Amino acid sequence: MSGSVSKNLQRLRESIPTGVELVAVSKFHPAEALQEAYRAGQRVFGESRALELEAKAKELPADIEWHFIGHLQTNKVRKVIPCVSMIHSIDSERLLRAVDTEAIKTDRRIGVLLQLHVAQEETKFGFTPEELIDFVTPELLSSLEGVEIRGVMGMASNVDDEERIRKDFHEIRNTFDRLKSGVMSEHESFDTISMGMSHDWTIAVDEGSNMIRVGTSIFGEREY
Ligand SMILES: *Cc1c(COP(=O)(O)O)cnc(C)c1O
Repeated sequence: MSGSVSKNLQRLRESIPTGVELVAVSKFHPAEALQEAYRAGQRVFGESRALELEAKAKELPADIEWHFIGHLQTNKVRKVIPCVSMIHSIDSERLLRAVDTEAIKTDRRIGVLLQLHVAQEETKFGFTPEELIDFVTPELLSSLEGVEIRGVMGMASNVDDEERIRKDFHEIRNTFDRLKSGVMSEHESFDTISMGMSHDWTIAVDEGSNMIRVGTSIFGEREY
């Protein structure tokens, strides 16, 4: 349906407060849909599969900023690094090290977000808040050369209960604040809280998100 993507984007932009960055989550949607969003001014896109990202990055304009938002296997890091400016889904030390090594090799500096697991679903990836606080130490930071830790990312429980969703986002925000006032206090670029999707981004922004990842509300339902 030509025209609906740009209309959806326009409507969304009108309701997002300034200071909140929109990542248009385009996974599973064809390049034409991304083209339409691009023509409507969108430059930041989120993808969750390495091969799909690689193919789209080749086909679409070079000034697109690609964010990787899905679970990333270490054996796919090499494919993803040349395309992306940010990885939202760092969920283990092993992955962080792999991204760092590959970024150094390709002479790039990649922004990364550390993924938090606060949702009730066991299936989601990420560090618990306490694990993350223990993980991010001055020693870790001084050992990284190819990545820059820009903030945190997380998802709320997949439930209708607004209080539960709010509580999850609050916990993500709170963990960001603990890092920001502690080990990351000298790191000015540690400034990003990526949370909120189509159905819950208004609550996320309420709770302090400054980067939302919205797919369905822009591109429609995905066909898997
Ligand atoms: C797919 C996905 C989104 C977008 O979800 P919508 O409900 O389509 O807005 C956001 N974040 C992550 C990590 C995703 O995998």
